[in-house]
Amino acid sequence: MSRRRTTPRAIKLHRTYSVEEAARVLGVHKNSVRAWRAQGLRPIDDSRPVLFLGSELRVFLERRRAGRKRPCRPGTVYCFRCREPREPALGMVDWNPSTARRGNIMALCSVCETPMFRSVSRDQLAAVMPGIQVRIVEGPPRLDGKHFPSQNCDKPKDR
Ligand SMILES: [Zn+2]
Repeated sequence: MSRRRTTPRAIKLHRTYSVEEAARVLGVHKNSVRAWRAQGLRPIDDSRPVLFLGSELRVFLERRRAGRKRPCRPGTVYCFRCREPREPALGMVDWNPSTARRGNIMALCSVCETPMFRSVSRDQLAAVMPGIQVRIVEGPPRLDGKHFPSQNCDKPKDR
């Protein structure tokens, strides 16, 4: 999978871009530009073909890029459906070790209930999830939305 970086600076502020032109200048697929509309990129007006003002396009992309870099605050996990960090539903997360020290937090988004994942080492757990009840899950992940929250959560075994 190739990861393309968009280059907002290639966009000239004072000209207008059709979907095709924006896609070509930015090196993305036309469908990406169409998807941006759904994410809040506004065209100049309702007429066809759809045209975007360069300044609007650039601001949208730079804001989007800044949003990607935003780290999750402690106590939150990035929800890919909401597209922003969310608190775990009911203040509870599972932690599934992949090695002795490494593992993944699994939680349900408190807003849309989509499963969220975040790689966190055992040592980081307390700092990353302050005040959150962490259940250490040995074995394969059990969190699938149906069995969560469990009524018999164990306290973290270590520490
Ligand atoms: Zn969500």
